[in-house]
Amino acid sequence: MSEPIKTDVLIIGAGPCGLFAVFELGLLDMKTHLVDILDKIGGQCAELYPEKPIYDIPGVPYCTAQGLVDSLMAQIKPFKPEFHLQEMVQTIEKIGDPLFGVKTDSGKLFEAKVVVIAAGGGSFQPKRPPIPGIEVYEDKSVFYSVRRMDSFRGKRILIVGGGDSALDWTLNLAPLASHLTLLHRRDQFRAAPDSVNKMMALVGEGKIDFVLGQVAALKGDGGQIATAIVKTNDGSNFEIACDALLPFFGLTMKLGPVANWGIEMKDTELITVDAASFETSVPGIFAIGDINWYPGKLKLILCGFHEAALMSQKAHRYVYPDKRLIFQYTTSSSSLQKKLGVA
Ligand SMILES: Cc1cc2nc3c(=O)[nH]c(=O)nc-3n(C[C@H](O)[C@H](O)[C@H](O)COP(=O)(O)OP(=O)(O)OC[C@H]3O[C@@H](n4cnc5c(N)ncnc54)[C@H](O)[C@@H]3O)c2cc1C
Repeated sequence: MSEPIKTDVLIIGAGPCGLFAVFELGLLDMKTHLVDILDKIGGQCAELYPEKPIYDIPGVPYCTAQGLVDSLMAQIKPFKPEFHLQEMVQTIEKIGDPLFGVKTDSGKLFEAKVVVIAAGGGSFQPKRPPIPGIEVYEDKSVFYSVRRMDSFRGKRILIVGGGDSALDWTLNLAPLASHLTLLHRRDQFRAAPDSVNKMMALVGEGKIDFVLGQVAALKGDGGQIATAIVKTNDGSNFEIACDALLPFFGLTMKLGPVANWGIEMKDTELITVDAASFETSVPGIFAIGDINWYPGKLKLILCGFHEAALMSQKAHRYVYPDKRLIFQYTTSSSSLQKKLGVA
């Protein structure tokens, strides 16, 4: 077991509210680490609607969702947050006063004086394709994400889907695979046109295959696929020999392990908080953004930003129990400006 990573505050979720929490905590000298299941920063904004316009961020008449994430990243840069992506927080345990032991699904350990749950709607989970018996192959030869590209080196890979993930992984894994087939039910794609053009160029050069159809069944042994049976649009079947199947059918949101952390919940979906500090029923654990509930709660990014500011005031008491907190404005405080690197 590896040594725990020690930090003042561990933030679970790198969506817009988790990111802004880094800023507010950083102004008060609290060091942050962030853990997120996704392979990218930005939560729903980056994963679900990066190119959609947002019109209700205070002082920003218009920005795209990804633009907002990029601006937040620029804003928090002075505080050097450390990100741990593609890691799902599984357990939180109280190990001191105040100290929490936090463990991820890959076994990474953290010790934090304060935990901030900014987990939004919970964990994004891959949609499972309707293939009978697919469960026995999952994590052995069927994968919904690519954690280590090299584990696919020299393999016959079948990628299924027509969105950005399917196309991106087709382009990235093509040079490593002994053979790669992209399978999609139609010849129109939701992915970026540039990726589609690059994929078609690889097909034209004979480096990969593109096939129209859907996987109807899998054949294999002991969790290892040997063949995918593909149904074409005219109803006929044929087989593709493969060692690994990567279906990319999008993501759904499920609460995931948050429900098991012994924190008081509202309607089993949301974490109840005190609206003065956004602390949960467990002292030292806070919840901000879409995941929390209090009377009048609105699931808006701007509300999550407000919650991050108030949460930081109370978190300071746990991280620096002997220090008095003096309220300051960034416009006039030279000490805050120094932290931001502008003075
Ligand atoms: C299509 C669409 C349009 C929207 N438009 C607007 C708008 O115009 N204005 C507005 O204010 N809001 C809008 N929203 C809502 C807004 O996106 C959310 O309010 C906001 O994303 C909430 O931010 P968050 O940081 O709380 O959570 P999220 O953005 O949901 O981020 C939570 C993160 O936590 C991670 N996570 C969850 N569980 C774990 C775990 N156990 N371990 C590790 N990581 C975990 C998830 O992977 C995720 O990345 C829109 C939402 C959608 C879907």
